[in-house]
Amino acid sequence: MKLNGCYDDLKDSYLFHTVAVRTGEYKEKHPDADIIKLGIGDVTRPLPAACVQAMKAACDEQLTVEGFRGYGPYEGFDFLREAISGYYARRGTKVAAHEIYVSDGAKSDIGNILDLFDRDNTVLVPDPVYPVYVDTNVMCGRKVIYAQANRENGFLPMPDEAVDADLIYICSPNNPTGAAYTREALKEWVGYANSHGALILYDAAYEAFVTDPSLARSIYEIEDSRYCCIEFCSFSKNAGFTGERCGWCVLPDELVVNGKKLADMWLRRQSTRYNGTPYVIQRGAEAAFSAEGMIQTAENIEYYRKNARMIGGCLDALGIYYTGGVNSPYIWMRCPDGLGSWEFFDLLLDKCRVVGTPGEGFGACGKGYFRLTSFNTHEKTAEAADRIRKYFG
Ligand code: PLP
Repeated sequence: MKLNGCYDDLKDSYLFHTVAVRTGEYKEKHPDADIIKLGIGDVTRPLPAACVQAMKAACDEQLTVEGFRGYGPYEGFDFLREAISGYYARRGTKVAAHEIYVSDGAKSDIGNILDLFDRDNTVLVPDPVYPVYVDTNVMCGRKVIYAQANRENGFLPMPDEAVDADLIYICSPNNPTGAAYTREALKEWVGYANSHGALILYDAAYEAFVTDPSLARSIYEIEDSRYCCIEFCSFSKNAGFTGERCGWCVLPDELVVNGKKLADMWLRRQSTRYNGTPYVIQRGAEAAFSAEGMIQTAENIEYYRKNARMIGGCLDALGIYYTGGVNSPYIWMRCPDGLGSWEFFDLLLDKCRVVGTPGEGFGACGKGYFRLTSFNTHEKTAEAADRIRKYFG
């Protein structure tokens, strides 16, 4: 028996563990400290009532012979695929229900999709980055190269014709930087992918936070993207389904490589390794896109947006550079006074009793940067912003 040696190439992800340990140590020394957590990457608002009611009704159906559901379709129930297709259509984007594949979340899909591709592909990921893109490729020994995101490019790297990449990850609005691509910028990426025979893996998990009309909410808003893009999306950040687990990916009909339709390969993969997202959860997800569900979902997103505005307003007043916070729940700030990410972490904890996430944990280009999130209450976010303004002002 031989182990997968590629696991030895994974960097240990100490980031959130170290944040927890350092915060715990501080708390031990200062038991009365009123610490505010702005490092949370999980939603905190309760689920939309429409989703909970739909899940309750779906549970009740299971009590009856007629309503009982066992294994569902591997691709997801038609009612949910239609609802997702309708969600795109209301924004003027054409994605047919049969091109949508329901899953237990974007994270699983982002990792699982790699089953379709040979190990001998070069993968391009932005730095800093959502660590899943890197680790899932390192686990199978694929070569990973980086597109540097920095202040000069507004943390939105553009394609470089000199670089040869086969699989390209784009996350917009981005975790951790909160930066989001315009349609014009995405046109360049789609052009690069089509001319290089590359495939874009487009993570739209935070699309519901976009307010600026010049920014894309789906890669399929871009011409010719159906030939070179798979989109991943989720009910986690729009409807708060981080615990319920439901997402989807889109494999357009035009996505054909060497005569093989990627959607066929994906269905083959899913039907072999996955037995479908629970019926009850899919009913809840469907309700997120009902008229009532959309209003309730929008209220939750607006709640987080208000928090982001409070943090952004505080950084504006202090003249600190940041990205995100407008079309994203994340605020990516430059550490003040030339401090390193961890130095700033300690200072912020000690002087303001606020916890965030050091940027360098997301990649080398995150050095000297820091991520704050809007996933806390209005009261605590306002208090944190006030403390930061007072200390650094
Ligand atoms: N993509 C990005 C960029 C994320 O930040 C996250 C979660 O934080 C996910 C995907 C995971 O989404 P899901 O909960 O649907 O697995």
